[in-house]
Amino acid sequence: MQIQSPKGTRDILPSEVQIWQWVEETARSVFGTYGYQEIRTPIFESTDLFVRGVGDTTDIVEKEMYTFNDRGNRSVSLRPEGTASVVRAMLQNRLMDGASVLKFYYIGQMFRYDRPQAGRYREFWQVGIEAFGADSPAIDAEIIAAGHQFFSTLGIKDLTLHLNSIGDPACRPKYVEDLTAYAKAHLDELCGKCYARHERNPMRILDCKESGCRAVVANAPLLSNYLCDPCRENFDMVKCYLDGLEIDYHEDPYIVRGLDYYSRTAFEFTAGGLGAQNAIGGGGRYDYLAEEIGGASTPGIGFALGMDRIIIALDAQDVAVPTSAPVDVYLSVLGDAAMPIALKLAQDLRENGIKTDLEFKGRGLRAQMRTANKLNAQYVVMIGEDEINSAAATVRDMGSGDQQSVAFEQLPEVMREKIDR
Ligand code: AMP
Repeated sequence: MQIQSPKGTRDILPSEVQIWQWVEETARSVFGTYGYQEIRTPIFESTDLFVRGVGDTTDIVEKEMYTFNDRGNRSVSLRPEGTASVVRAMLQNRLMDGASVLKFYYIGQMFRYDRPQAGRYREFWQVGIEAFGADSPAIDAEIIAAGHQFFSTLGIKDLTLHLNSIGDPACRPKYVEDLTAYAKAHLDELCGKCYARHERNPMRILDCKESGCRAVVANAPLLSNYLCDPCRENFDMVKCYLDGLEIDYHEDPYIVRGLDYYSRTAFEFTAGGLGAQNAIGGGGRYDYLAEEIGGASTPGIGFALGMDRIIIALDAQDVAVPTSAPVDVYLSVLGDAAMPIALKLAQDLRENGIKTDLEFKGRGLRAQMRTANKLNAQYVVMIGEDEINSAAATVRDMGSGDQQSVAFEQLPEVMREKIDR
């Protein structure tokens, strides 16, 4: 039987890859303008990093990780998200030493063993940014602005920014206590998952999508009524900065990151055209995470955006994506004697930055033209007996059908000029 790719994974084929490259280039360029530098971390890490850095009460760690023992009997896991690794790398490489604020972005695959559906995969891609060293609400606003600018540069429409403050260790415990008591009074209305986690991680009930849980949540106590003065002032400042940046937000009390090391600002971006899986990114402040994984206390904030969903949204919203043909010039090789000349001409063209391919199979002219058409080549350069004798190629404009003769030695220059036009 022919082997298939694992369930929940996909190939990104050459026909789709330009849109991926464009999304990646846009991320590099937009985040670069905010002073973010790329960081690349391992695709697998010690399992313990995620148990501590994502949280042992989360669905991700409880049920979704690809965890295995390596041949040295160490438990490792494919990364389910990027933040824990970036924090680990920052601590391990002592990047904070002597630094004021550090800004990193990453692009890469993440792995979660979840039930695959449209917009949800077991291997998926995220682009994310993380900023360390500053607890000012200004950087919260700046991070959100970077995400916002990335989406608007891509041309994503129907973008909503959901914004919340989830308090801090001073004010959240009382809220969690009251929320737990409230959940206990409504246990029979909760879904199985929320029933199970109502004591260990009650805040996750707030973002459960099940209708029964949503109904319970509608009357649940709200964290916004429990914020201590410093958290409230901080949240007000974040909103004030966003107003100044003219970024719309929707205050949403149900955006949570239900773990102790997350604090204050939490946000999510949703977009149209995605159906049920309409979250295209989320993030928040995690001032207590560095300590959680054994490092010095370091404030941090970041987000992760789902590239698969961004691409689905671009497609559903008919956003025009810049694309280019895989080749500019197709060299048609007619007869064995033409091959050495064609190979050399192809090399000259390529050295001049012209995307060139050529016929390797000695087929007839018609078959070669069909291939050139399929590749969307703008020009076909023919080399046959006549061309060899006159040391000049026949250049055919595939758009107009016009043909002209160009001396071999002038070919790169002439083609460069034609393609630039
Ligand atoms: P999270 O780390 O769960 O907050 O995810 C951040 C973003 O990554 C989400 O808003 C989604 O766009 C994307 N994402 C998360 N899980 C998946 C998945 N299984 N498949 C595709 N995209 C995902």
